[in-house]
Order: sequence, then structure tokens, then C-alpha cells
Amino acid sequence: MFKKILTAMIAVIFFTAAGNVNAALPKPNAWQPEVLIGLLGNVQQVNLSFSAPCVMTDTLTKQQIQKVSAGKDLYIDVSSMPANSIEIRGDKVALKDLQVWVNGVMYFGGIKILKKGTTITVINIAPVEEYLRGVLPNEMIQSWHLEALKAQAVAARTFVLKNRQRHKNEGYELCATTHCQVYNGMKTFDTTDRAILVTCGEVVYQGGRTVDAPFHADSGGMTESAENVWGAKVAHLQAVAEDETQTQAWTVKFTVKDFSSRMGNAFGTLQRFSLTPLTIGKSAADRTTSGRVKYAKIIGSGKTVQMKGDEMRRKFSLLSTLFDVKIENGEVIFSGYGKGHGVGLSQYGAKHYAEKGWTYDKILSHYYKGATIKKLY
Ligand SMILES: [Zn+2]
Repeated sequence: MFKKILTAMIAVIFFTAAGNVNAALPKPNAWQPEVLIGLLGNVQQVNLSFSAPCVMTDTLTKQQIQKVSAGKDLYIDVSSMPANSIEIRGDKVALKDLQVWVNGVMYFGGIKILKKGTTITVINIAPVEEYLRGVLPNEMIQSWHLEALKAQAVAARTFVLKNRQRHKNEGYELCATTHCQVYNGMKTFDTTDRAILVTCGEVVYQGGRTVDAPFHADSGGMTESAENVWGAKVAHLQAVAEDETQTQAWTVKFTVKDFSSRMGNAFGTLQRFSLTPLTIGKSAADRTTSGRVKYAKIIGSGKTVQMKGDEMRRKFSLLSTLFDVKIENGEVIFSGYGKGHGVGLSQYGAKHYAEKGWTYDKILSHYYKGATIKKLY
């Protein structure tokens, strides 16, 4: 009896000391959508290994081709492909409980392989929630506050479920690079796993549908409307002010000579810039509501160029369009704040609000105006 009480006391002390993060993880839902992620394209061969016995089938006819043993290397090359499209799934285990090593890198789920002429494309068939476990640590630092990680998990899940047509022509749904979301194997953490599990199936929702939930690293002080960045007005993607401004200050420098040569032959030598000085949250003819550069006039000895802020960002590798520019001692000096396109959720902003005590739903409704969270499954 005493021993029992003592054990209970130790358990209470342990869980109190450890806090929420180390408490037992909740169980995931039984059902979830499957996504197809392109892992390798234009390759001749791949080496696979599965954690449990599997079955290889012809995707089109659904006919079984062969059984695949657990833990054994399975080499597939373009000349040995038994059909133009094959799938390998667990014989008795569900996709979420199956692990596959693709050229030694571990993923959850099964594999689909497409033969395309003289090459093959290797695709991971993954349950969405397991896929997110591989994605989230690449999108946000795993030691950040749980409420920030939860907000990021919902935004990342929304991205997946909204963008399943992106690579339709290539035979899968999402790629594994920054074009979609970086996915290079399962390096999972308790914190990011927990953020995914406790928000299982939740997406950003408005007007009866799942809506785009873009995110970026840091707004610099105020986010930007989708209209000013991508051209089309989106109700829930408006510019919103942050608690902290002038975050993540950065500087990028060029010599006047280097800058001028990047502007092309006809431009001549840089003379001056015409751009309203930056005040975060103050618009001008050449600046948006948040203060981001809409366009700047760049005056050279040969001609004057009016360039969009976004184009300047790309051309001169700037971290954001929330910047000032000046010429000083033979140098062009760009100085700005924030990182990324500035639309939707700011990751550093989410971290700040989470540390201030905001819950993930409050964080999401700050960045996605008028949107709610909906649990789809
Ligand atoms: Zn992509």
C-alpha cells in the first residue's frame, strides 16, 4: 500500500516537473488522408527496405506482383520495373505503422514508383499526419513554445491539404523541396510530434472551406496583405500589426560599380534612388500599408528604371521588401527588417505571442483574419 502511494507521488512529481511536453502523447486518429510526395525523380534505380512484410502491386490493375520481405534490400531499377506504375504497401500493417528506407533515409508509409521512359520517379505514400512529423522540424525550431509549434502544425497541414494538385502532372502531389515543404526523412522530436498530435486534422477554415495559410519567417513589424504580394485580394490575408517592430534587422551591401553592372549595360552608373523613407506601418505611393517597397526608381547615368520591390528582393538577394536603400562612400546599402514574403503567419511573431501566453488558435486568428480552425478528421 505504502509502495503504491509512493509510486503515485513520484509519478505526480515527475509529471509536474516535466510539464506538458513530456506527458504521454495522445493517440492519433484512426483515419487520415494519404499524400503522395515525390522523393526522387529522373533516377535509374533505388534501394528500398521495409520495416514489415509488404506486397507489391500494379497500380493500374491492382494485381499483386510479388511479396516483399521485411528488412531486406529491394533494388528496383528502370529495366526491372514489372509495370509502369507499382505500389508497395504493408501486407498486414497500416501505412502509419510502416517504415521505409529509401536509399537509407527513413520515411513513414509505403512507396509508389513510376516508370518514365528511361528513368523512374520514387514517391512516398504517407498518411498526412506522419508526413507532417517529417516536415515540422524543418519549418520551425523544435524547442520553440508548444503553442507556436501547434500554430505552425495547423498552417503546414492546411498547406498540404490545399495544394494536392501542385505536381499532378508529375504523378504525385507535393515535392520534397522548399517549393512545397522540405521533407528529407523522419528526424522527429517529441515537441513537434505533440504539436501535430494535439491538432490532428485541424486546418485554417473560412467561408465553408479550407483556405490558404501561408507563413514566413519574420514580418519585421507588420505582415503584408496577399494582394500587395501576389496580386489577388484574399479576405483573411490582410496586413496586421505586430507587438514588436524592427525585428531581424539586416543589411546587404554592393559597390556602386557592382550594383550598376547588375542593372545592365544601358543603365550606366548609378546616380541615386527615389524611394520614400521607411516607416513600418506607414504607406506611401511607393510603399504598401506595412511600409514594404512597392517600387523604387533607380536612376542611372544611362536611364531610369522603375523596379518592383519583389524584383529588387530577388535581384539583390534581400531578406524582405521592408527596406530602405542609400548610397554612401561608394556603396549601395540596403537595410531592412524581417525575413520572407510577409504574408500570413510570422513564425517569429507566433513564437513571441506564444511566450506571451497566447494559445495557438488566438495566434492563428491574429494572422488569418476572420478565419477559424476546423477539425476535418
Ligand atoms: Zn513542390
